[in-house]
This record gives sequence, C-alpha cells and structure tokens, in this order.
Amino acid sequence: KDDLFKNVISHAKEYGFVFQSSEIYDGLSAVYDYGQLGAELKNNIKTYWWKSMVQMNENIVGIDSAIFMHPKIWKASGHVDGFNDPMIDNKDSKKRYRADQLLEERIAKYEKDGKTDKAAALEEQMNEALKSENLPQLKVLIEEHEIACPVSGTRNWTDVRQFNLMFSTQMGAMAEGSDEVYLRPETAQGIFVNFLNVQKSGRMKIPFGIAQIGKAFRNEVIARQFIMRMREFEQMEMQFFVRPGTEMEWYNYWKQARLKWHTALGTDPAKYRYHDHTKLAHYANAAVDIEFEFPFGFKEVEGIHSRTDFDLSQHQNFSGKKMQYFDPELNEEGKPYGNYVPYVIETSIGLDRMFLLTILNAYEEQDLSEGDKKDSRSVLRLHPALAPVKAAIMPLTKKDGLPEKAREIMNKLKLDFNLQYDEKDSIGKRYRRQDAIGTPFCITVDYDSLQDNTVTIRHRDSMQQERVAVDQLEKIIGDLVSW
Ligand code: ATP
Repeated sequence: KDDLFKNVISHAKEYGFVFQSSEIYDGLSAVYDYGQLGAELKNNIKTYWWKSMVQMNENIVGIDSAIFMHPKIWKASGHVDGFNDPMIDNKDSKKRYRADQLLEERIAKYEKDGKTDKAAALEEQMNEALKSENLPQLKVLIEEHEIACPVSGTRNWTDVRQFNLMFSTQMGAMAEGSDEVYLRPETAQGIFVNFLNVQKSGRMKIPFGIAQIGKAFRNEVIARQFIMRMREFEQMEMQFFVRPGTEMEWYNYWKQARLKWHTALGTDPAKYRYHDHTKLAHYANAAVDIEFEFPFGFKEVEGIHSRTDFDLSQHQNFSGKKMQYFDPELNEEGKPYGNYVPYVIETSIGLDRMFLLTILNAYEEQDLSEGDKKDSRSVLRLHPALAPVKAAIMPLTKKDGLPEKAREIMNKLKLDFNLQYDEKDSIGKRYRRQDAIGTPFCITVDYDSLQDNTVTIRHRDSMQQERVAVDQLEKIIGDLVSW
C-alpha cells in the first residue's frame, strides 16, 4: 500500500499531473502545481461537480467570490478566535506536533491493545481540555501517556500553544492601520455574505443553494501526504438554505446525494464510508464526513454539516444588516413569522483530495505476461468523462499521406474533445503512453483508412480493437465520455 502511494506520486510527476511547487528552488512545503494533464483532470472534476450541483438543480446557483474579504468577516465566522490548532514541540527532536493528534494516536493505541477503558477515559479528558482550551492540561495528558505511545522517548516538551491557521497580508488602501487582511481559509463565507445579493437578484425561493469552487489557504502546521493536506488548495462548497425545522430532512438528503455523486464515478462503494460526528461544533446540530480508503487509511474527503442559522446570524450581528428571508408560503398559511434567518446545510469537498482519490483509485500496474513472455503496463482507469485526453490519433507510419489523414480526423474532432496527436515510436509504445495517462481511446490511421475511410479504435481497459467508420468516431467517443 505504501508502494502504491509512492508509485502514484512519481507517476503523477512523470506524466505531468502534479509537480512540487518551485521545484528548481528545492520546493515550497505543502504547495503543489498541477501540470498539463493535472490541470485537465482537475477541470473535469470541477465540471462534474458543477454540472451535478448547479446545472442539474434548478434551485442551486453558482458564484465566484473574491479571496480577499473584509477582515470583520473572519471575526464573525469565528476564524480569528477559534481557527487554531494546539501545537506542541518536542525539544529534543525539534519536531512539532498537533497536541490533539498526539493524543488521538494514543487513544488508538490503547484501543488496539484492548485497553478500551483507558482509551475512553483519555478521550474524555482530551475533549474536556480541548473544549475549555485548557492547554496546560493537554500537555499533562501528553506527558502522562508518553509510555503508551512514545513519540521520542523523552518528556522534554514545550508548552502547548495555539497557532492560527489563517495567512494574513497587508492591504494598501484601508484606513486607520486596520489594513491586515486574510487569505480566506474556506470559500463558504463568500457565499454567506452574498446570501441576500443572490437571493434577491436571482429571486430565489427557499429551499435553495449557492455553490462555489475556489482557492482556500491554511497555514497547516503539519502538512504531509502529498496533495492531501496543502497550504493552498481548492474547495467545492455548497450552502443550502432551508426553513428552520426542515434541516434534518435536507441534511439526510444531501448526505445521500453526495455519496451517490462519488460512487457514480464507478468507484467501489466499499472504499467509501460515512463517519458521523459525535463531537459537534457548538453551532452544528449534525455533521458527517464522507471518508475514502486511502493507502494510509480511511480519511475525510467531504463534509456535510447542518450549521443551523449560526453563520447568517453572526453576519447579521457583526454587520448590522438583516440577513433574513421573507417566506411568502409561511405568511400565506397565516403564521405570524414570515421572516426568519434560514438554516444552512453545507456540503464541502476538497478538490485536491478528490483528485488524489481519483488517481489512486484509477492507477494499476497490470501484468500482461503470457507464458515466458513478460509484459506489463501502467494504466489509469479513469472514468472517461474525467480522462484528461479523450482520444489519441495515431498514423501507423509517418509517410504516404497517413499523417495528413490523421490530422484531418483530428481537426474534425478537436473542437469537441481534448485529443493528442502521436506519431512517434511503435504503435505498442504509443498505446502504453496513452494507457499511463488514462486515455480511453486510441485511433489508428493505416493504409486502409485512405481507401475506405475507416480506422482502428482501441479501448483502454479491454485493449480490444475494432474497425469503425471515421464518421462514427464523434458518436462513439461522445457516448462514452459525456456525463
Ligand atoms: P481536516 O480535518 O482533514 O483538516 P477539515 O475538517 O479541517 O479537514 P473542512 O474545514 O471541513 O476540513 O474543509 C472541507 C474539505 O476541504 C475537507 O473535507 C478536505 O477535503 C478539504 N481540505 C481541508 N483542508 C485541506 C488542506 N489543508 N488541503 C487540502 N484539502 C483540504
């Protein structure tokens, strides 16, 4: 499993999916660049999300809000005061850890050793200390349970300190020294503060949703596992505004709908699971993670949260502007309160984690040996709609008019599909290159093509080949790669 992860990381680099940022300067920690194929795959994941959320739902619209926002927004949202990780340094190893993560590891160790009482007791003490922000107590717990889960073999720890995860920078033209702005740590607040703008200008009726895809920034202290935890990443978030009292119904709806979105890509459903939260943030009344089985265990890819009216109410308090919805239906029923602050169900998925999941799940080293004849291939079994390149067009040879014929076919199709033209090396080698980047079709132009306007089309997964008329290509490719 470790090998799979390592192989996928080097495969992603070798074929132009993901590069370390600033690599020629030895890299920048936990920041990554998407290469020529990575950018395509990422765009296709975004399209899949956008279509299924915005295009398929008449009551969901999409926006694109700015990364910079008024600093008060992060006060209202709780990020200035509460978006902290409690960190502790080991003085000997000079390594930094998240205090709660250290304790979680110890709880897991107790559980593994069958010491469930100890695990439960420690968990309770930890939660208590986290809730009351009792940092000295966290340190005591870490030291007390050192033996259960030795990290360095010493007790030489610093005090526990809170690290805010937001990046800040200066903005020139703001008055009275209050010129510190933050890079947004989530896209959701851009939706909340535009709630009324969108509702009014779009004449939206509750229940309705606002969706957005965009960059978010977090100064993660422990950033590792490739693009799993980055300092600059992208989120795809949707806030669904509902009438108070109906939130559980919608929470359950989105919980199901979002898992369906994942499994509709053909991924083995056994690789997914729900993780219902038992510890809830103070403003939430239900929360679940959709987890995927990565090589390093089940980890969160997406969160679905029932956030009550917390966010809109906070913005109402901090901005002094009413964040209310007038519900004509409630009024007609003769109920006195047609005005209310809507409740919110949020779905929030990390695009980069989804990307990682997608290539890990698609990657296969396939043994094609027959008898003594050894052979193998690396193949990315991506859903055709997600594949960066939909088809490769290959003239059998570089002469006798075959390249011209291939170009002619390419020109006909390239408005609709992202294609690659490849005339170098043997056909077998060209097939392998396309398998490695997940191209669902290879189209070979040979001498017969010049006579009868047919080509050989070879399928990535089955490696089967068939002869088809050039005129059919658009439909064959279109049928498989469309949503
Ligand atoms: P985690 O517990 O893994 O730090 P989180 O609970 O802080 O995640 P949310 O704030 O709920 O995450 O963000 C929603 C989604 O954004 C997550 O499910 C994840 O897919 C993604 N995400 C969060 N932080 C990062 C990051 N540093 N790098 C990449 N993706 C991230």
